[in-house]
Amino acid sequence: MNISHIANEPILDYRPGSGERRCLEKALDALRVRESQIPLVIGGQRKSGAGTRALHCPHDHANRLGMVAQADEQMTAAAVQAAVAAQAEWAATPFDERAAIFLRAAELLSGPWRQTLNAATMAGQSKTVHQAEIDSACELIDFLRFNVAFAERLQQLQPLSTNGALNRLDYRPLEGFVYAVTPFNFTAIGGNLPCAPALMGNTVVWKPAFAASLSNYLILELLEAAGLPPGVINFVPGDSAAVSAAVLRSPDFAGLHFTGSTAVFDGLWQQVAQNLPTYRAYPRLIGETGGKDFVLAHASAEPETLSVALLRGAFEYQGQKCSAASRAYIPASLWPRVKQCLLDALATVRMGDVSDFGMFMGALIDRKAYDRVMRYIDRASVQGSTVLAGGRGDDRIGYFVEPTVIEASDPKADTMREEIFGPVLSVYIYPDANWKEVLSLVDRTSPYSLTGAVFANDRQAINEAAASLRFAAGNFYVNDKPTGAVVGQQPFGGARRSGTNDKAGSMLNLQRWVSPRTVKETWVPARHYAYPSMGDAG
Ligand code: NAD
Repeated sequence: MNISHIANEPILDYRPGSGERRCLEKALDALRVRESQIPLVIGGQRKSGAGTRALHCPHDHANRLGMVAQADEQMTAAAVQAAVAAQAEWAATPFDERAAIFLRAAELLSGPWRQTLNAATMAGQSKTVHQAEIDSACELIDFLRFNVAFAERLQQLQPLSTNGALNRLDYRPLEGFVYAVTPFNFTAIGGNLPCAPALMGNTVVWKPAFAASLSNYLILELLEAAGLPPGVINFVPGDSAAVSAAVLRSPDFAGLHFTGSTAVFDGLWQQVAQNLPTYRAYPRLIGETGGKDFVLAHASAEPETLSVALLRGAFEYQGQKCSAASRAYIPASLWPRVKQCLLDALATVRMGDVSDFGMFMGALIDRKAYDRVMRYIDRASVQGSTVLAGGRGDDRIGYFVEPTVIEASDPKADTMREEIFGPVLSVYIYPDANWKEVLSLVDRTSPYSLTGAVFANDRQAINEAAASLRFAAGNFYVNDKPTGAVVGQQPFGGARRSGTNDKAGSMLNLQRWVSPRTVKETWVPARHYAYPSMGDAG
């Protein structure tokens, strides 16, 4: 197989009157009239859970989208067994045949499945049409296609063979199954975390985030339509603690592919550590976690482009991107102009039901998120910060929080340090002369190191920021917002408390899902034990 021609999926623009827009509107209408039943899928069989949980639309919480089956420990143990049972055959399936399934899934998603998955992401996770398109269509298609190309390249990495012997690396999957635990905020991550290990020959137990159950179940159906054999990916929505306990006690647990909050990843890592002696092999632990992503402006930056980057970076998808700009450092000389541009633009931002394509923002994912974000906003004024824009919430119809800009007088205020995961941008204004001190402030204020951006026209300032902040972000942007990484172009992941930095959608990630075996075959084996240096003694 040679698929080196691979390119990123083009983003459709859904202009009024376009075919894609009509098709998406139809898919949204279909969701409105039909309640979805989301089962467990174990060994290819649909199973009802120990109970069900109602899934509601975040921007219209009276609207029930479906019922989600909930796995208990016993059902999860059955999913583990199914994954273990499917392992040998899947591991022995030639790479090209495995790859064909994921490439076919990409093609189906690019065509007939595109608007079904986009509609589920809009209704279930409250993404606007553009945010759904770049996530559940383009990014997931890119993951599916690029992973195949990267896997192919990885397997071409082979050792040297000499005249006397043939050496090769056999890219075996891990011995056991992989546990994929996925977040609510990207449908594409929901798909990528089980698919990347599966492409490399592993079988998977997949626990989706409850709020993303609708789109995530459709991904499983898409993979089945593309020919994924039963048992390769087993789908177990359910209580996180119960599902994880059943998975992590299996001796066949071989790896964790996680994206979500730092606290949850810490907890899973600790559970794994406790069970360590019972596992057949040292498990691979891959986790992409939280962020407190910065935008640092130098006095030479251009205020207009900076304010657009702040608005898009902080407020698209309601700030619920791990990469969202949530703290900004702006020099005093630039601030009046930046503030004016930002607040003027914010006054025109529309927020509401995302099935109205004119919306720039939808609702927060659930009640818990709404309460958390409102608590941060309310506390900010008590702690001496000033709310410059937004600040109000309205949870009567959906979990809406206005895009909020906070000016922090203390650069170590909570809103400058902690991940809020909502539409809140905290800004610290520094005296222009303190550029060097601010570099160190940006580096040391938060425990995370996911994304960050510097805005400057002065090349020396860009170089200083890139050098001082080398370890402050896994994805670093110059004169661009810190969100919107594209598979194949900006491999994504952060270090420090932001994760293990295994760069989703790259060869670096895929190599974590293989356990290579080195094979040496000698053509003419030795016929005597002695070496020439031993002279007659031999
Ligand atoms: P979360 O940590 O609440 O949930 C993530 C997953 O873990 C979900 O499937 C959830 O059900 C599960 N989970 C929750 N509690 C658990 C427990 N006790 N044991 C086992 N599993 C448990 O995160 P979320 O709200 O879905 O997503 C938001 C977080 O994800 C943010 O912190 C964000 O920064 C992070 N994130 C990071 C990246 C990245 O690439 N670094 C990407 C997306 C999201």
